[in-house]
Amino acid sequence: MDRPIATIAKTKAIMAEFGLYPNKGFGQNFIIEPKIIEKIAQASQADKNTAVIEVGPGIGALTEQLAIVARSVLAFEIDKKLINVLAHTLSDHDNVKIINEDFLTCDLNYHYQTLKQTCDQIIMVANLPYYITTTIIFKVIESKGDFSSLTFMVQKELADRFMAKPNTKDYNALSVMLQHLYDINIVMRVSPNVFIPKPAVDSIVVRFVPKDIEDDIDQDKFFQLIKACFIQRRKTIYNNLKQYLDQDINMILTRVGISAQRRAESLTLDEFKSLYGVIYEG
Ligand code: SAM
Repeated sequence: MDRPIATIAKTKAIMAEFGLYPNKGFGQNFIIEPKIIEKIAQASQADKNTAVIEVGPGIGALTEQLAIVARSVLAFEIDKKLINVLAHTLSDHDNVKIINEDFLTCDLNYHYQTLKQTCDQIIMVANLPYYITTTIIFKVIESKGDFSSLTFMVQKELADRFMAKPNTKDYNALSVMLQHLYDINIVMRVSPNVFIPKPAVDSIVVRFVPKDIEDDIDQDKFFQLIKACFIQRRKTIYNNLKQYLDQDINMILTRVGISAQRRAESLTLDEFKSLYGVIYEG
């Protein structure tokens, strides 16, 4: 292929050749700026020892660059109209495998394990479809995949939630869960002008790197507890916990040193961990 896919001329030429119209229902906004693609691939730190899983390759703009820098790319694309297009645009890259499947229903643990047999380092990189970003992220963090990093383009409002601090409007259960699991960094802000069609929102590329996590925390139990504490945001921690646990909530909160009148939105990650410790470890 002569020029990168992620140029306006090439993207338009591919769309014309295949009679493609971006499908809003699938959240299709194609990147048309090669520098953005290069920066995402660079930030992901993909190299020839890395297998990449991508969600939503579109017409292959990011996939092309990942194929150049990584050992292999496994990409899930839901839109069957794009499969022929990708076979054409990525024909120079024999280290790319496209699967025509909804990422949300794919067997991620199976694909992760299969890649792991030949490659130590597995990462995820994607310009995510914004209508299901949170669901995709939940699927990834609840999977058994031990990804070395996740580099995702998401809409700005969501990135604000990932990184939100206690006592702010954006702080929610997802903020606590993600900050428990990962160090989260902003790679760059991305303007709507570098997409066809232009999305209505600004975008941010974020990179998640797993933290060393205490062995004694059971992730499922911890996340259920966090979700329960936030279940009714305006209610006190006491009232939310009372619905969730058949235990003496006042005694638990006294032991953790958290006032029963506080709300989940004011609790730090360390306070959630202390709460978990008292409830489940006595
Ligand atoms: N990677 C391309 C780029 O950066 O130009 C396209 C990104 S576009 C924002 C999102 C892509 O995700 C689209 O190609 C869309 O068809 C695909 N997609 C949407 N829902 C999906 C799903 N559930 N599983 C897999 N792919 C999906």
